[in-house]
Amino acid sequence: MRRAFIAILCSLTTCGISAELRSSGLIATGSRWETPYQVIETSEPGPTIVLTGGVHGDEPAGARAAEQICEWPLIRGRLIVIPRANVPALKAGKRLIPGVKTGERDLNRNFPRAGSEGGTRGALAAHLWDFVAAQHPDWLIDLHEGYDFHRLQPGSVGSSIIDCNSDATDAAAPVMLSTVNATIADPQRWFVNLSLPVEGSLARAAAEQLGASAMIVETTSRDQPLSLRTRQHRIMVHQLLLRLGMVSQGSEAAIIPPPSPGPRVAIFDDKGAGGGGPPLMEATLRELPGSIAWRVGAEDVRQGALERFDLAIFPGGSGSSQAKALGERGRHAVRRFVEQGGGYVGICAGAYLSASNYDWSLAFSNQRTFADMREIPGKGMKSMWYRGPSSLVTMELSDAGKQIFGDHPGEIQVRYHNGPIVPPMLPNESPTYEVLAWFRSEVSHYEPQEGTMTDTPAMISTRHGKGRVLAISPHPEASKALRPMLAKGMAWAARN
Ligand SMILES: [Zn+2]
Repeated sequence: MRRAFIAILCSLTTCGISAELRSSGLIATGSRWETPYQVIETSEPGPTIVLTGGVHGDEPAGARAAEQICEWPLIRGRLIVIPRANVPALKAGKRLIPGVKTGERDLNRNFPRAGSEGGTRGALAAHLWDFVAAQHPDWLIDLHEGYDFHRLQPGSVGSSIIDCNSDATDAAAPVMLSTVNATIADPQRWFVNLSLPVEGSLARAAAEQLGASAMIVETTSRDQPLSLRTRQHRIMVHQLLLRLGMVSQGSEAAIIPPPSPGPRVAIFDDKGAGGGGPPLMEATLRELPGSIAWRVGAEDVRQGALERFDLAIFPGGSGSSQAKALGERGRHAVRRFVEQGGGYVGICAGAYLSASNYDWSLAFSNQRTFADMREIPGKGMKSMWYRGPSSLVTMELSDAGKQIFGDHPGEIQVRYHNGPIVPPMLPNESPTYEVLAWFRSEVSHYEPQEGTMTDTPAMISTRHGKGRVLAISPHPEASKALRPMLAKGMAWAARN
């Protein structure tokens, strides 16, 4: 009820013509197929669109994008979204439905085929089809992902729009393609137009059985972060909704996290973020009930996406690469976000990014990092950031750290992988940060590193404008046992 009220207010004040009503429900309630749907209805007549994601469980971008598109203000027509059509497969991270008989495993082959007697195959397709048919959709858009770019590897449908050759889809697809392709520098990664969706697919069935204008929109998972793939889905769907007059001109394909009882968290997953970091951040945030964790990329940050979140997390990887991906505009946006009260948690690479000694660093405090070049006899000039492969070290919370992370007495074992080591302050300066934990052991690879890590800061905090910053050199997220502690730090840093 509260949600519907907020939506109506929002829509009335932004466009002044159409009231918007939001409702939600469940398909296949109580069964293992149970999945939520959202309906966004306006008082202004217009098309009915059914948008689906997560039909294949190993194609997460479609599910994420559908979830995000649910939050857009609508000015005309009716949008029905099923973000997670195939919950068992999504949970397993697999394309096929787990635990069903051969011939029914691929959900996107289980919908009614033209000219055949049979209807749907399997219980999940039956539930979904009943629901979709009852909406009488004018359009059906099904979001998927391919394993490779179609222009590079024609065996994959990655980066394509596969439409049903109706007049309406033939007119819309080129506009959707040119809009998304304008954001892609490499022509080999451009989206292409294909037809028709495969027999038994939801899109094909919607076109043939329901007369809907239907298309499958495919991004490519290869070498592209999840944030970029969801962004491409959003851009294409947004362009379609714009053509249909359902979203306002000048609006962008934005990420708008819904109101939530816990912090709304943006996890940076673009260039410079290691592949393992973002999933471990999501695992950590499951310790904060009611929090929302969405991935963002450099372009999202540059376009001001962080402003709508309470916390930004920059995970492990390469600090300089993250900085380069963000560019000056992105780094400025991160600093402004924190100035205005947003939280920042930087882990390993993200802690380098938050430091002050590089021309690309965010300089939230006067924390420097011991990473200069030294002459190593017989080896030449070597940078001191490298201390060898990932290993376990110990750290100990300070009193200030215990205020934030809770009382963890004694030494805590934590994984370390070349995170920043903070050198001593110069005689004429004092730290503009507070030490939350100290390293109590060390690793080193080169002789000048010996004795430079033990008893130096492992975790620090600082304030920047109205916001809080947490910079963590090791990887507490890598240990399941330390995730509840790290989650407390995230909750502390988040805007509140
Ligand atoms: Zn698929």
